[in-house]
Amino acid sequence: MIRLRGDLHIHSTVSDGKHSPGEIVVRAVEKGLEVISITDHDSFEGSLRARRAVESMGLELVVVIGNEVRTTHGDILVYCANHAPERVPKDPLQLRDYMQEEGCLVVPAHPFDKRRMGIGELVYEGGWDAIEVFNAYSDPWSNEKAKYAAKEMGLPGLANSDAHIVDSIGAAYNIIEVQEVTPEEVIESIRKGLVIPRPGRPGMKELASSLAWSIERRLFRRRRGESRLDYLADYEARRWGEQT
Ligand SMILES: [Zn+2]
Repeated sequence: MIRLRGDLHIHSTVSDGKHSPGEIVVRAVEKGLEVISITDHDSFEGSLRARRAVESMGLELVVVIGNEVRTTHGDILVYCANHAPERVPKDPLQLRDYMQEEGCLVVPAHPFDKRRMGIGELVYEGGWDAIEVFNAYSDPWSNEKAKYAAKEMGLPGLANSDAHIVDSIGAAYNIIEVQEVTPEEVIESIRKGLVIPRPGRPGMKELASSLAWSIERRLFRRRRGESRLDYLADYEARRWGEQT
């Protein structure tokens, strides 16, 4: 049995994170993680880029292909071994069914954290592969409720950082038990519940940097003009930035 340390909820410049997928994979390895997923908002692109970066740098890091989907009822994490499904339904239950048919895992993110767009009581609808029971940036009460829900439904729990800056990667993580170090095995082990969440919080320095980054993001958005969603505006702005 091999035990891997994995943080499965990280944001990059593809959505509203401060650092690129390349910077994230380097930092994850430095921090002693063996598995990550970059879960940008409504995009698998961060993980796909991370996978390419790992290959070109020859790093020993499993990258699970991830996406934090903003459904009509809140945020849901999707994890796939090696591919990015073409369709991403916005209805939470349709998303669940479709992604499971694709062989992917469907995991409500911080379900009871309203400030972070959790799906709330819909988590009890069931049929999920796991539940994010600890989010390093959520309040303790929301995390406790998520932990209780996972226990009630007999589902595996995940602990993740939800890092938007590289310093916070791995603040919370999971021990994943596998037979082989492959993305397929990581997915399979989580589905079987061979995962132990390891809660943890970012330090004062990381909290200060995260706050500075979220202020910077907002100022940036204001200069660009208002948009429907913070992260979409950031995403567009960054794409323009890359092209110039
Ligand atoms: Zn997130």
